[in-house]
Amino acid sequence: MNNTFLPFSRPTIDEETIASVADTLRSGWITSGPKVLEFEKRLSGYFGGRPVRTFNSGTCTMEIALRIAGIGKGDEVITTPISWVATANVILEVGATPVFADIDPVTRNIDLDKVEGAITKRTRAIIPVYLAGKPVNMDRLYAIANKHNLRVIEDAAQAIGSSWMGKPIGSFGDFVSFSFQANKNITTSEGGCLVLNSEAEAALAEKYRLQGVTRSGWDGIEVDVLGGKYNMTDISAAIGLGQFAKLDAITAQRSKLAKRYFDLLGDDFEKKTGGQLPPKDFGSTNWHLFQIVLPERIARATFMARMKESHNIGIGYHYAPIHLFKLYRALGFKEGMYPIAENIGRQIVSLPMFYAMNEKDVERVCSAIFDVLG
Ligand SMILES: *Cc1c(COP(=O)(O)O)cnc(C)c1O
Repeated sequence: MNNTFLPFSRPTIDEETIASVADTLRSGWITSGPKVLEFEKRLSGYFGGRPVRTFNSGTCTMEIALRIAGIGKGDEVITTPISWVATANVILEVGATPVFADIDPVTRNIDLDKVEGAITKRTRAIIPVYLAGKPVNMDRLYAIANKHNLRVIEDAAQAIGSSWMGKPIGSFGDFVSFSFQANKNITTSEGGCLVLNSEAEAALAEKYRLQGVTRSGWDGIEVDVLGGKYNMTDISAAIGLGQFAKLDAITAQRSKLAKRYFDLLGDDFEKKTGGQLPPKDFGSTNWHLFQIVLPERIARATFMARMKESHNIGIGYHYAPIHLFKLYRALGFKEGMYPIAENIGRQIVSLPMFYAMNEKDVERVCSAIFDVLG
């Protein structure tokens, strides 16, 4: 067995970034300050000049977008059952009602036909998720939103570097939320950012980010809404600036690794193993994850254990269907409601995929997969 453990994800922080973090630590200013402003400016430039604000997670970023949109009690928000639980939790957090629409079995993203079917008089917003970095059909998404007068909070947590018709995700649309959690394509250790539509919305985002404070100065402060404590620190922003400088290189490397996975697993992967590959999308996806769906004949836990024990390879899974968690069952959701999500959620796995990996690592993973799947 290969003695080097190959994890499914690992961040790469270069020496320049480490030096910049050290400078920040020595500067005497370690909370939100000049590095945060610089990071927001860089991000805004990348998103075509749209207003951008940073936060201490991708989760609170979406919660704040819902608050800015005025969504709360009595409102319904449509989302996908296959995401990190944060996507639905933020809907509950603001007092609104999550409504799920099943996924498309090929893209594994929310099925936009089913979104249309789930719209009621109380629907106020859609939260689409770009699983593995693959966008939904953005033209169709915004056609539906415009037709029914709905807000969109794009959960683009996994999609920095992805694009639609050549335009970066985040450079168009309504609210677009990104995460910089440690496993994401670029990281601030923990953090997130929100792309907004106007400076007025950005000012509201700043209020919700810091206790609802509207004005502070020599003559005192004022608070007029309930905000939280969601600001990013300069330590995180220093990491983010170093990571952001590498975004294109990171996306290119992931794309190269994905191509190698397709080459080695082969077009006949389904015929050979009964498993399913992701869509071969080299136009728009940043390859945040490379996910395969295992054949029913092998339990996911068995596959993961054998990859670890026999081959020293870490496998992830993204995600268990949200509606089957206890918290959501208690709200009335149950098995059978979203059958495609339930089937894929049971058998989907994420293969190792990160910037510092090389093609030899991909070869190692693929031969291990063929060994385990027989
Ligand atoms: C990572 C992630 C989140 C949450 O982001 P945090 O920064 O961890 O709060 C939400 N949705 C999706 C799809 C994610 O991948």
